[in-house]
Amino acid sequence: MSPDLSTVLSKSAVIYCTKCTGKGTRDLTSSGYLAGCVISLFFHEAGHICAARALGIRVKRIGITWWGPYIVREAGAPMANAMISAAGPFVNLLLSAMLWHVWPTGSLVNLVLGLANLVPTASSDGGRVWRGLTGALTAPGSE
Ligand SMILES: [Zn+2]
Repeated sequence: MSPDLSTVLSKSAVIYCTKCTGKGTRDLTSSGYLAGCVISLFFHEAGHICAARALGIRVKRIGITWWGPYIVREAGAPMANAMISAAGPFVNLLLSAMLWHVWPTGSLVNLVLGLANLVPTASSDGGRVWRGLTGALTAPGSE
């Protein structure tokens, strides 16, 4: 995950959204927006953890830094790693769809968080998905 990128993108999206709706930018510091970010990050990490557990991969530690929450887990097979890495952004995209009519700001935060984490950079979930998929394709025994 690259929380710096996702934070910038999500705040930019909320600024855009609030300008479009005419509500101003006060939503950026509202407790609802901040709660949405925290809840979204919680569900994002829960997605990674649930996928790891479902694939039989042990989660060693759950922590939080200034850059956001993180998990430390055992290494899995390349395809398992790709699935675990994709699970966090997938949960955000699912939440975005579910919240669309109920809580547009929360929906937008989750949309941007999910999409930003899928950008394939060196330290992002998208990068880990890409490495997992390409590793699975080049692993011994694959065709
Ligand atoms: Zn993640």
